[in-house]
Amino acid sequence: MSIWVIADHRKGGLRKPALEALSEGKRLADQMGTAMEAVIAGHNVEGLCNEIASYGAEKVYVIEHELLTNYNPPAYARVIGDLIKERQPQIVLMGGTMTGRDLMPRIAARVGAGLAPDCIKLEIVDGKLKAIRPAIAGKVRVEIGFKSEIQMATLRPNVFEKLEPDTSKTADIEKVPFEPTDLDTKQKLLEFLSKETGRPELTEAETIVSGGRGMKGPENFALIEELADLLGAAVGASRAAVDAGWRPQSDQVGQTGKTVTPNLYVAVGISGAIQHLAGMSSSKHIVAINKDPDAPIFNVADFGVVGDLFKVVPLVTEGVKKAKAQEG
Ligand SMILES: Cc1cc2nc3c(=O)[nH]c(=O)nc-3n(C[C@H](O)[C@H](O)[C@H](O)COP(=O)(O)OP(=O)(O)OC[C@H]3O[C@@H](n4cnc5c(N)ncnc54)[C@H](O)[C@@H]3O)c2cc1C
Repeated sequence: MSIWVIADHRKGGLRKPALEALSEGKRLADQMGTAMEAVIAGHNVEGLCNEIASYGAEKVYVIEHELLTNYNPPAYARVIGDLIKERQPQIVLMGGTMTGRDLMPRIAARVGAGLAPDCIKLEIVDGKLKAIRPAIAGKVRVEIGFKSEIQMATLRPNVFEKLEPDTSKTADIEKVPFEPTDLDTKQKLLEFLSKETGRPELTEAETIVSGGRGMKGPENFALIEELADLLGAAVGASRAAVDAGWRPQSDQVGQTGKTVTPNLYVAVGISGAIQHLAGMSSSKHIVAINKDPDAPIFNVADFGVVGDLFKVVPLVTEGVKKAKAQEG
């Protein structure tokens, strides 16, 4: 009986949600008095095993093949699913990245396991996994229990605490053979095309500055971008700003956009509609700038400024510049 974490990686590095899943896997394994083990599939990924071990994995199953260089849904699901069937870990976790959200249901169906997606808290109750996740646009929290022997969950990025890695730790490595089948070659991911903005990915950013309809037009997002770049932040947007064509859909935060949980979320000219809150209200610190003192965003804000954003944002930007200059 053990806890497994499937380690998601991209461009030669482990993704932050993978580190969070490894940390949570280790916490649960310690609670159960069992081992945390990891699985990594890809091409030239064995070099990532030391980092995986530093988060407490005692063993890493490495599945290497050129066909696995990029995420390949049928091949990944087959080879990892077969390994799970054979070794029977009790719990299988993965970060809720796009890959995790696609791969885990495929594996769950193959192995006949229950899957709790988008979890924000995990517990062990009577020796089994209990998963907690938000539902109905964040209005309720659902507790999920499992009937299946194997219990699977994806973890909402930026919610679970990441452990301090211990680089003195090592893990056993078991290489798992991979024999391609016809099905594995039917589809192939050629490359990831992501818009190179130089800013962090919205779902993985520690800080986000978002603009809404109050920005009045796409050109004024330069104010948001300048502040975001100073803070090393990602840029987000409300659906109103996206629907108006001011920002790409990939920037949208909320029920029908991305769920984010950064350390700091700055909402500028955003009213705080329930559908927007569904995507950002779990942020650790929320700052709101809005000219309407009754705007609902202030109900979730830790710090609010009632004022005209076109005056307030430049002042904030100047303040950050000065603070940075003083820091040297
Ligand atoms: C099924 C469904 C799904 C949805 N999904 C999403 C989603 O994923 N994400 C999302 O964001 N919305 C979503 N919406 C839309 C949501 O209901 C709101 O319409 C939207 O969030 C409003 O965006 P906003 O806050 O930018 O605009 P508004 O509600 O118009 O608010 C603009 C705010 O800017 C302030 N403002 C204006 N001028 C200034 C100024 N000069 N200085 C300071 N403040 C100023 C105003 O006081 C106001 O509070 C969804 C709706 C539905 C029905």
